[in-house]
Amino acid sequence: MSNRDEFSPAVKKAVAMRAGWQCSVEGCPQKTAGPSEEAPGAFAIVGDAAHICAAAPGPGARRYDETMSPEERSGIGNAIWLCPTHARLIDRDEATHTADALRAMKAGREKACAEEIRAGAGTLPGSGLLAIGPDIVCAGEIAQVMAGSWTLNLKHFVAGDRHAMVGFSGGFASRAAEDRYILSNELGDGRVQSEAPALVMQGGNCMVTCPVAPNVPRIDAQKLGSDFALHPETNDLYVENSSIARVSGADYLPQKIRALLSMQRGENVFAATAGVRFYEYFEAFKGTFWLPQMLMLDVIRQAAIPVGDGIVIAPWTTPLRCVTRVRGVELLLGSPENNRLPLRVDLDVQGVGRWQSDLEIYMPTRDQMEEGARRLEEIRPTIAEFGHYSTSSETR
Ligand SMILES: [Zn+2]
Repeated sequence: MSNRDEFSPAVKKAVAMRAGWQCSVEGCPQKTAGPSEEAPGAFAIVGDAAHICAAAPGPGARRYDETMSPEERSGIGNAIWLCPTHARLIDRDEATHTADALRAMKAGREKACAEEIRAGAGTLPGSGLLAIGPDIVCAGEIAQVMAGSWTLNLKHFVAGDRHAMVGFSGGFASRAAEDRYILSNELGDGRVQSEAPALVMQGGNCMVTCPVAPNVPRIDAQKLGSDFALHPETNDLYVENSSIARVSGADYLPQKIRALLSMQRGENVFAATAGVRFYEYFEAFKGTFWLPQMLMLDVIRQAAIPVGDGIVIAPWTTPLRCVTRVRGVELLLGSPENNRLPLRVDLDVQGVGRWQSDLEIYMPTRDQMEEGARRLEEIRPTIAEFGHYSTSSETR
């Protein structure tokens, strides 16, 4: 063994740590370190630092490079962290697993590991968030999209759990119509669910097949109508050519989107379920990787799912009625300042095409939200007299 250029313990440990103690083969979920039952402080390592180019010449040596020095051969640049299964596979097949392919694999794992650390705990790289109704949010994938159904592969619950998923499916018929939806960040789109979703538990994952209604038709931005213009800085009416300024059509779009994303759910006494859940999501996810993803799901909901006015659902339209796809929602500031939250939205708009814009939306403070809720309680009896107020807010 003395003629083999083995890795030192320090090199082995460094290459394992740089891979996050996970096998470097993309998609291999194998953890390579964990507790040992032998002693309370003992641990077991099942992975190994494998040689990209073999440690010594001879029969069975893979990818041996005679031009390398012993220091290079035993250096960290020649090491890749693998689980036992992949270490064996890679040593058997030199044709598929060339030195370059292994170096690329190692670089990919280290990059993914760095991103996971930046993103925070519990993230799954490459998988978008999915929402199933208002209380369940999962990291996962869209397994199948058909005209009449979407199949989702749920991997990791961000809100809710399997039990909630089973409850949603079982209680589907009694859910409010505007709560029967699925949303996908990966697709930037969502659908109304037409029937209860079917669940299949598969290994550690939960497969959900959701029958869906046809896509809600959208209108051209030019047909948005018109309104008094709000000044982008003062957010107030202003005079232009000696009359109050107006905006219409596609020019009205930024103002319309800003207004819609500035109204929190619960603020509108006549439409208890209308509005975004940004305030709520900031309370729950502030400072985490999930926050912008949660906001994006909520914008998709505004674009794709009809909302009622508390009495009837308007199934023919959605709040963001000309947005056909939400490509991205980015926070330009970690939290609101002086009630203002700058956002970058990237949308597909019917009649316009791809539309990217920086918007400053209004965000209430906690005091303002609590004060608003208190005032709502006060006027609730008056509103109820007119028959305009729906009690559906109580089921939230
Ligand atoms: Zn592996």
